[in-house]
Amino acid sequence: MSSYMVEPKSRADLRRLARILREHLRLDDILYFPIVELLDVMTELFSDFNYEIVADSVLSKKVHADTDVRTGHIRIKESVYEGACNGEGRDRMTIAHEIGHYFTLCFCGFKLTRNFSNAKIITFCYPEWQAKCFAGELMVPAHLVRGMDRDEIAEQCGVSFDAACVQYKHLPKE
Ligand SMILES: [Zn+2]
Repeated sequence: MSSYMVEPKSRADLRRLARILREHLRLDDILYFPIVELLDVMTELFSDFNYEIVADSVLSKKVHADTDVRTGHIRIKESVYEGACNGEGRDRMTIAHEIGHYFTLCFCGFKLTRNFSNAKIITFCYPEWQAKCFAGELMVPAHLVRGMDRDEIAEQCGVSFDAACVQYKHLPKE
């Protein structure tokens, strides 16, 4: 994936995109984002979006889920899907990450161009960075967690402590 480059999008852009999605779904004031339910909502909203729950053995050990960015097809390991249903922060974030790939590469039509030149790819051009950033912003809404500490963010938003720390670091300063 690293030989591909997409249009630069800043964290602020991706925060805005996550907020638009939340507003569209009327979830703008909800701390605990219903990420598993979003999979089915998106299947209804977007004709080119679909997902599949696969046996853990289908994907390699290190991979929790993946997205085919040409078709928008998401595959999620059974154990990850179940974990997300049970409120496991890391698994919830995995699903948000894959949905992030869909939004940043498929739906928004960001350019996916092969990077033939030796031009240095800056971090925010990477699809992985964009998906990760979008997922964090979607799951931890900056406008709702102001004043919370990292434990509260993890608990209230249903994310791992590590993810809460990352988002905490990027909260706008008062
Ligand atoms: Zn990814």
